[in-house]
Amino acid sequence: MESPAMPPQAALIGGEWQATPATLDMEAPASGRVTTRIARCQAADVDAAVSAARRAFEGDWSRWSTRERGAWLLAMAAVIEADHEHLAALECLDTGKPLTQARADITACARYFRFYGGGADKLHGETIPYETGVTVMTLREPHGVCGQIIPWNYPSQIFGRCIAAALATGNTVVLKPAEDACLSVLRLAELAMQQGLPAGVLNVVPGLGREAGAALASHPGIDHLSFTGSPETGTQVTQAAAVHHVPVTLELGGKSPQIVFADADLDAAFDSVVKGIIQNAGQTCSAGSRLLVQREIAEAFTGRLVERFAALRCDAGEADADCGPLINARQKSRLEARLAAAEADGIRIAARGQLAEGASQEGHFVVPHLLSEIPAGHAVLHEELFGPVLAVQVFDDEAEALRLANATDFGLCAGVWTRDGGRQLRLARGIRSGQVFVNNYGAGGGIELPFGGVGRSGHGREKGFEGLRSYTRIKTVAIKHD
Ligand code: NAD
Repeated sequence: MESPAMPPQAALIGGEWQATPATLDMEAPASGRVTTRIARCQAADVDAAVSAARRAFEGDWSRWSTRERGAWLLAMAAVIEADHEHLAALECLDTGKPLTQARADITACARYFRFYGGGADKLHGETIPYETGVTVMTLREPHGVCGQIIPWNYPSQIFGRCIAAALATGNTVVLKPAEDACLSVLRLAELAMQQGLPAGVLNVVPGLGREAGAALASHPGIDHLSFTGSPETGTQVTQAAAVHHVPVTLELGGKSPQIVFADADLDAAFDSVVKGIIQNAGQTCSAGSRLLVQREIAEAFTGRLVERFAALRCDAGEADADCGPLINARQKSRLEARLAAAEADGIRIAARGQLAEGASQEGHFVVPHLLSEIPAGHAVLHEELFGPVLAVQVFDDEAEALRLANATDFGLCAGVWTRDGGRQLRLARGIRSGQVFVNNYGAGGGIELPFGGVGRSGHGREKGFEGLRSYTRIKTVAIKHD
């Protein structure tokens, strides 16, 4: 694969690409090689971006009709589709994910623009029956200037889900992409400007979390904050935003179970269990990182998994193997330390995948691991490992399955595999999470489906029409008349 053309090495502020005195090297996770540099924004750059977003919000942008905004989003979807292969190559290089996955992510990004482009003129308030002679209505208004802090695991998809929903509802945005992977985001911002988005409606301030990210979260000039990343950083940004009473949407990851009962379609469950943890090398907030399997089928089902895991190959994204590298050296050594500790605690490594022959020794690869015989309460059952590691537990009956599924502080997704209709409904209601998939596992996919967590997984909803609603606030208007 040829090296893709690189996006601007600058910040986008008020419609201008502005270089910063300091820059950050971007590294390809599959080789450790520096690919390009990005801007390293500081508090003053964030301040300028928030001012630009405020001017845009109070200027022309607020006069665009819902239909005009929708039309722009639909045109942007077509532009993304036209640049599909270039964007996919950037995403593949920058995150290390297999090219097929990178392509799917760009397709999803375009679909967000299409979905929210179509939705822009379909969101409305209500009238409320009240006293005689008083008409009451609710207006859905944009928040204003939205701060968005996004991670490195799905840069283009999360750009699509946050930006398209925020712009469809008439907000302006200051976006802080992740320092580990943001090349597709910079290219998408470049495309948005070429597509005639007014200056200041979208501002992008690349840089470090503790600099640009912290400055954005604590800025008094933002009206709404959306954060996707780790629970620890989520706490910090919430505390910073609380000083100015800024509402926050948090998407913080998970420890999602896939529960397989003996009566399930086991072939379908098997493929989905593997995909649910291997996708994006397990660096997916909604990864199915725990397998709960019923005792009658546990040995046979796990035996198949052992074979499959042992055959899984890791390689650079462009080789399009089963699994790419982890995002950086820190995540690799963190995961390796967790795996070493698990082994030292007597947990069985039932299977390990392999590194492909051509894979670079400098790449941040950790091969897929299947863990079994795990003592109750062990860290690998409740800590988000963010790698291709599946922890297997065995249960006897439905009550135990539910108890194990809910034995986590996280609550993002769950998969339930059973043909028993009553059990499907009982578990769908009983599992404490934002999404439950029965006889399938969407792993957070589904542009149309509201997505978000409970507990340590965060709060608020993105995606679907809920995503549009969350970028608006309600104003109640009561008019007394004759
Ligand atoms: P992180 O939470 O530190 O980073 C996510 C985003 O927040 C990045 O844009 C980063 O620059 C920014 N950020 C960091 N510190 C900040 C601060 N003090 N104020 C404002 N913004 C800040 O995540 P990470 O260190 O890149 O990854 C560590 C762990 O986070 C992973 O192991 C995983 O468990 C979790 N994670 C979850 C998701 C998810 O999709 N929910 C995505 C990435 C990482």
